[in-house]
Amino acid sequence: MATKFVLIGSGLAGGLLAAYLGRRGYDVDVYEKRADPQEGNIVGGRSINLAISTRGIHALQQIGLADEALRHAIPMHGRMIHDKSGSLHFTPYDVDPQKCIYSIGRAALNATVIEAARRYPNVSVHFNHKCADVDLDSAVACFETPNGCVSASGDAILGVDGAYSAVRRSMQRRIADFQYDESYLAHGYKELTIPPASDGAWQMEKNALHIWPRKSFMMIALPNPDGSFTCTLFWEFEGPRSFATTKSDDDVRRFFEAEFPDAVPLMPTLLEDFRNNPTGSLVTVRCGPWFYRDKVCLLGDAAHAVVPFYGQGMNAAFEDCEVLDECLEKFPKNRERAFAEYFERRKENADALADLAIGNFIEMRDKTASRAFRAKKKLDHLLEAALPGIYLPLYTMVTFTRIPYAQAARRARLQDRILYTALIALSVVAAMAVALLLRAFLGRRV
Ligand code: FAD
Repeated sequence: MATKFVLIGSGLAGGLLAAYLGRRGYDVDVYEKRADPQEGNIVGGRSINLAISTRGIHALQQIGLADEALRHAIPMHGRMIHDKSGSLHFTPYDVDPQKCIYSIGRAALNATVIEAARRYPNVSVHFNHKCADVDLDSAVACFETPNGCVSASGDAILGVDGAYSAVRRSMQRRIADFQYDESYLAHGYKELTIPPASDGAWQMEKNALHIWPRKSFMMIALPNPDGSFTCTLFWEFEGPRSFATTKSDDDVRRFFEAEFPDAVPLMPTLLEDFRNNPTGSLVTVRCGPWFYRDKVCLLGDAAHAVVPFYGQGMNAAFEDCEVLDECLEKFPKNRERAFAEYFERRKENADALADLAIGNFIEMRDKTASRAFRAKKKLDHLLEAALPGIYLPLYTMVTFTRIPYAQAARRARLQDRILYTALIALSVVAAMAVALLLRAFLGRRV
């Protein structure tokens, strides 16, 4: 009899994982707390669109889904910085102008991966099943459904139920030495809209990720296929100027006119959006181990939620699916070893990504506005062109390669050390040359 996996969650990673496992011939039962997206529910309650890059695209390619998923995605070739005066500065993401990330709709992508999984007759998906608890030793999960509580069992349970995972909670309760740490940023986020122009066109440059960096906070905007942009304001929850103190329509209008004056005329529903859209929190979760014997394993945000500033949470979750699939292929008769190797390969990288994502918040909201940042990006691109395959900027390694995150972070630190040492050495040589020239010149005159 084929091994049976019970998956909890049919979000981005759950859908893709079900397709990978279905292809491998396993029996797969997926349980999702939401209603069927085909019946019109909105998937997520998180960002409306996301940036997908090399790692996520590669995971889709491996199962033949990349073309279908990217059909309506919009390429973004760089950052468009909006300063307070409304001036625009474009910085390409890479020295190669063809390299880009894509803005992709979360709901459409989720529907694509679920549909791909359902094409395998050995995969079934059950909506309106909210997992309440998991018995780790017997691999039995209990669900709340509109018709009461039910349970499902398999050879193993895979927790792909996101940042607030019920599967992880069961592991926390039952595994004595389970490590767990969650931390929240002082900033929350709110989504707002720039609709299409009256002729349906995009009202700003379509092929860019727009950023309004304002030191301690920022707004970003990603394009949608219907001509609109989804803007996300990342702002402090508390403080003299914050979500807490900006309540009335007048407060909101004053804040936006002061900080984002070029965006305000493009946002006719700003006040309604601000009032009606929820303010989300930004959590980082680090935990371990991600598996229990050969019975339970965590993937995606359930294992490692990160803040969204590197645009890598989903990309990393898709990479998890690919790596677990490889490990199951390597140890077809020893699932515990497969889970252990998957954890070994991913944990260090998930931790590195968590740090990179927090670091990139500071870069996006603060440094992208500065001339020094733009100069450093130009220098990065010059060095990348001059030393192909030797010098790779950190952003390029994270976004346009599949170099493991931890290795990319180490390599970037080493490159920076070499670069700064070389710059200091060059400055010293230049200063000595000037001193020698001056001495020769003055000596001749005396
Ligand atoms: P999720 O997508 O959260 O899916 C979890 C699924 O499990 C959901 O369908 C949920 O309904 C279901 N579920 C939850 N609890 C239960 C339960 N008890 N029982 C049954 N089902 C359950 N990543 C990027 O790569 N690029 C980006 O640009 C990007 N932008 C982001 C912007 C914002 C504002 C945020 C918050 C995140 C962003 N991310 C981005 C991160 C990305 O959204 C996540 O990393 C990704 O969704 C993780 O996928 P997942 O399947 O693990 O979790």
